[in-house]
Amino acid sequence: MVNYVLDKYDRPMKDLRISVIDQCNFRCTYCMPKEIFGDDYQFMPAQELLSFDELERMVKIFAQFGTEKIRLTGGEPLMRKNLDELIRRLSAIDGIKDIAVTTNAVFLVKQAKKLKAAGLNRVNISLDAIEDEVFKQTNGRGIKTSPVIKGIEAAREAGLNIKINMVVKKGMNESQILPMARYFKETGDTLRFIEFMDVGNHNGWNMDTVISKKEIIRQIHEELPLEPLDANYYGEVASRYKYKDGNSEIGVISSVTDAFCSTCTRIRLSADGKLFTCLFATEGYDLKEMIRSNQTDHEIILQLIKIWTKRDDRYSDERAEGKPQKKEKIEMSYIGG
Ligand code: SAM
Ligand code: SF4
Ligand code: SF4
Repeated sequence: MVNYVLDKYDRPMKDLRISVIDQCNFRCTYCMPKEIFGDDYQFMPAQELLSFDELERMVKIFAQFGTEKIRLTGGEPLMRKNLDELIRRLSAIDGIKDIAVTTNAVFLVKQAKKLKAAGLNRVNISLDAIEDEVFKQTNGRGIKTSPVIKGIEAAREAGLNIKINMVVKKGMNESQILPMARYFKETGDTLRFIEFMDVGNHNGWNMDTVISKKEIIRQIHEELPLEPLDANYYGEVASRYKYKDGNSEIGVISSVTDAFCSTCTRIRLSADGKLFTCLFATEGYDLKEMIRSNQTDHEIILQLIKIWTKRDDRYSDERAEGKPQKKEKIEMSYIGG
């Protein structure tokens, strides 16, 4: 029997997001700007990363709180060695019903089949432009779209459920909203637009750089008429829409202009074992220390209950209310989105 634990605003702890590595082969300007994450940037040493044994143990504990969904992220999660082995172990845990990966897709050509065979259900693939010249700029490494498109095709062939994520930032890629919508309307993959967020401290965010959900929908609806769809489940972050003349759908994740903190059920674990109850947190709880200091499962469970029951995070709501924002935040590449 599952015992949900509720935070101060009665939100259950449901979705666990695990960053499995902080390294990445891209340098997206809105996430890991290359001026900060240069060639000499010190990523985590391997011994700092939680091992597969440690991750398996943690997920077993989280499953006891009703966690059914696991999302593996990064950095670039497909750069973690033997990721399929981790997925195999996690998918065998009682209560875990859904395993997803968020990825830039480049390594899916090689890995999609074995990840699917290991128990992976879904992939969210990040692609911020369909035109090479724009994409080469956004990914900071001059990479064309074709390796990502090939990754998407490999995921499709492997039978994985696919969603495409596009971060929209003013001055970077708003020209791509319609071309991306047209392209993925044809392929039938769900395309999700993400409002550019002020995660981390180095991506030059300010309110003027955000293209709102309203604007994104307006642009698409003008050419490709849309109708709203109901949420699939409690806590779904994307507002969903369907094209009137077809079955493809789109979503918009509007964490800036229409925040959804009141139903936020997510808890996040960094690759070095720190636990965060909000994407915009400053400090995490040292879960690795709990594990490596030989605490029992029972002791860890008691601490997790304490952490979640005192959780009162509502950063995006507070931003919308105009409350002063914290200065130092964890980086997106560290916590994984
Ligand atoms: N490397 C993988 C990828 O890009 O899919 C996984 C990690 S990435 C940090 C996870 C997600 O966060 C991606 O969909 C990415 O587009 C999104 N993201 C990164 N920085 C963001 C920002 N400043 N605002 C909104 N979304 C962001
Ligand atoms: Fe890497 Fe993903 Fe961040 Fe882009 S968004 S730099 S692919 S971690
Ligand atoms: Fe959840 Fe924090 Fe995002 Fe609000 S700002 S939805 S509490 S992660």
